[in-house]
Amino acid sequence: MPLPKVFMTQKIQEAGMSILKDKVDITLWSDEGRPDPRTVKRDLPHAEGLIMTMGIPMDREFFKRAAKLRVASLYSVGYDNVDIAAATESGVMVTNTPGVLTDATADTALMLMLMAARKARENERIMREGGWTHWSPNQFVGKDLFGSVLGIVGFGEIGRAVAKRALGFGMKIIYTGRTRKPEYEEKLCAEYLPLDELLRRSDFVSLNCALTKETTGLIGERELRMMKKDAVLINTARGAVVDQRALYSACSEGWIWGAGLDVYEKEPVPMDEPLLGLENVVMMPHIGSAAVSSREGMARLAAQNLVEAIEGRIPPNLVNPDVLKRI
Ligand code: NAP
Repeated sequence: MPLPKVFMTQKIQEAGMSILKDKVDITLWSDEGRPDPRTVKRDLPHAEGLIMTMGIPMDREFFKRAAKLRVASLYSVGYDNVDIAAATESGVMVTNTPGVLTDATADTALMLMLMAARKARENERIMREGGWTHWSPNQFVGKDLFGSVLGIVGFGEIGRAVAKRALGFGMKIIYTGRTRKPEYEEKLCAEYLPLDELLRRSDFVSLNCALTKETTGLIGERELRMMKKDAVLINTARGAVVDQRALYSACSEGWIWGAGLDVYEKEPVPMDEPLLGLENVVMMPHIGSAAVSSREGMARLAAQNLVEAIEGRIPPNLVNPDVLKRI
């Protein structure tokens, strides 16, 4: 019996490759870069399984073309690039990799918070340029995390992991989200507030919600103007949660203190992106999960989800359980 045909956008860690070995017939679309769209188009009709390491749009047309597809295993927790309804209608199981990237992404949020608060970009530049000529009580002075209010938007796995870390830094936690989570409020000393009030009260705002129709453009000019003038916005969720043009105005015109970003409306960020010119904006190239144990965990889960589905079982991280009624 020939092994089921599986295509993979880019090579994943050995922790995942070893699970797939001898179970499926894998074709790599690319070792490292973005796969050629013509190759993807050519191969899709033959794919029984996919392992998708990057946010390639998977729309109705995509699923129509992938006529033999049974499972699309995502190497991410976010699935905003997938038309879930279309996948379900086409009988395709979609899986993700929750949990294993929670800590690394929460660490990234704290790193961005500290870097923006303590003016890491500006202070490092001054030092490297030889501008550190004397000690002064007023030079290089940033904001405290200790004693400040952190507002978390989206109190899911990562949002709560950010809260846990922030408590260690002596921050007070407030949060908002689609649903109130009383079960975590006492443990994380967290108070639930509506978004507008959270924005008015926070010294730091950390975006940790999923990107959905409701959260697209959630933070625009109106919301940024509501924030304190010395507040910092952190986004490790998805770029489209924030109106990037409005954020540029906010950071360049002093509506807020600055920002720490890991995600953008357009990725990779084009070199003419105006935010690149602002020193009070710390920018990382979508590295939230880029830590060894996290990436190994993602590879392992993505491979396990794929094998479970291909072998006819229910994969542990099925995003669209309604599909089970159709297959
Ligand atoms: P999660 O546990 O599913 O949490 C997502 C949270 O978003 C949930 O609490 C959900 O609310 C909330 N949410 C959904 N709609 C909302 C709305 N309209 N307003 C406010 N909150 C809303 O997922 P997670 O593991 O924490 O990941 C969160 C997001 O982080 C992912 O979706 C992904 O896009 C992003 N991420 C980025 C990186 C990176 O590399 N930077 C890495 C991992 C994840 P409910 O509790 O009511 O469902």
